[in-house]
Amino acid sequence: MLDEGDLVYLLDPKGNRYWLNLRREMVRVQGLGVVDANKIIGQEDGSRIKIAGRDFIAFRATIAELMESLDRGPQIITPKDAATIVFRLGLRAGDTVVEAGVGSGALTLALINAVMPAGKVVTMEIREEFADRARRNIERAGLDKYWELRIGDIKTAELGLVADAVALDMPDPQLALDNVERFLRPGGRFAAYVPNTNQVADVVHGLQDHGFLEIGAVENIQRNIEAHPGGVRPAFENLAHTGYMIFARRPARS
Ligand code: SAH
Repeated sequence: MLDEGDLVYLLDPKGNRYWLNLRREMVRVQGLGVVDANKIIGQEDGSRIKIAGRDFIAFRATIAELMESLDRGPQIITPKDAATIVFRLGLRAGDTVVEAGVGSGALTLALINAVMPAGKVVTMEIREEFADRARRNIERAGLDKYWELRIGDIKTAELGLVADAVALDMPDPQLALDNVERFLRPGGRFAAYVPNTNQVADVVHGLQDHGFLEIGAVENIQRNIEAHPGGVRPAFENLAHTGYMIFARRPARS
């Protein structure tokens, strides 16, 4: 059942999505006008809803759909890369994850989704203006209860916590490794996301110098496939490149 507090979208026959947070009142929906959310609360996920004579399907949003819908400034981490980061970090409910920086909060959403409700994500962001946009995005998703945003530099900030995993999306993650060693627990997992190969080399060498193990770098190539009446082929407008991911684990000091 779709419930109060859920973030849902209304899908029209052309594939357009209209987003709203379900509250027991009239809600202003961008692109649609004012909608009575009471008509949607209590309906089954995926129900047909009629609004002002038009037909929509109401779906509760998945994290990937949410990430695609974000109000974005800097380049976001796409669902395909976020899925790899969450899985390779081995995230489970209850984990504490440290992230830097926040950007638009796309990766943050995927991290929170993996560790909630018992765990939390602590995000360090150096620029206040990005922090504000990301905060709006995470609040809109209703996920801010599992999230702590701190303004500061991940290279030097004293975090005062023990993390199970760390995810860095910033230009020079290798310069944060001295600090990562202070808060990442023994056995903890490390991920970095960078767009250029020279950065991959910098991060891998930094991890080696800091004694990290199980170091590996990957790129995810994903192509959308279109099925037309005359044939099936990759989409012409596929994204050629997003970023490289570097993973590692921290051993205990003996
Ligand atoms: N992963 C984000 C995008 C991050 S963009 C997303 O999916 O939306 C990179 C961010 O890192 C920017 O917001 C930038 O301000 C921040 N940043 C760069 N250096 C940093 C540092 N030393 N400490 C904390 N944040 C940093």
